[in-house]
Amino acid sequence: CGIVGIVGNTPVAPQIVEALKRLEYRGYDSAGVATLEGGRLDRRRAEGKLRNLETKLSQAPLSGVIGIGHTRWATHGKPNETNAHPHATDKLAVVHNGIIENFRELKTGLEAKGVRFETETDTEVVAQLVTYEIRQGRLPIEAVAVTLPRLRGAFALGFLFSGEEDLLIGARHGAPLAIGYGEGEMYLGSDALALAPFTDEVVYLDDGDWAILTRRGADIRDESGKPVHRLRHKIPAGS
Ligand code: GLU
Repeated sequence: CGIVGIVGNTPVAPQIVEALKRLEYRGYDSAGVATLEGGRLDRRRAEGKLRNLETKLSQAPLSGVIGIGHTRWATHGKPNETNAHPHATDKLAVVHNGIIENFRELKTGLEAKGVRFETETDTEVVAQLVTYEIRQGRLPIEAVAVTLPRLRGAFALGFLFSGEEDLLIGARHGAPLAIGYGEGEMYLGSDALALAPFTDEVVYLDDGDWAILTRRGADIRDESGKPVHRLRHKIPAGS
């Protein structure tokens, strides 16, 4: 129900949790964080309050300087740790707000190609579709570009890729998503309030937009893949 992403320069897990706390008002039943540890994806997830996730992180910290986080309000699949986001394969991790309405049909198609699913969520189909495209030889950005048009429903997504230390992708389709601009750091969040501790400069993505974030900035594209310019807004200090 809440998405956060940071491509930064110091360990991001504590900042991600801080931002997720600012999204608690949206309601949630579980939470999780994934970062890259020497290029490899690692994640911590917990049922219940963010406090439970913080306990896990204090017992086994994540040290990555790029990562994504999520608070989940379950729509498909029980609210337990297995179904908590980020969902991951060996290629990527994904966080998702909303519903992928055609996930059953997409899942059946992938299962017919031999893909095995680990969870009951609609979200995992996104992780597996993009992973499938990467296995076919596509680069992460291309894999997302061919997958987004296949998804139906209202959703926002955040992607982190194995071995890609300077790349996050966010997509907005019927659920809000904002981008934050920092000093050599970039942020992704379900709303600007979540990003207020880190930056006062944001872009609200238009519906259908998706954005490629690196430490240097954001490359925003519309639904057809065409690069677009979106207005930057100042959020009031102390938000
Ligand atoms: N439909 C997804 C799930 O049930 C995401 C729900 C959400 O917005 O948190 O896992």
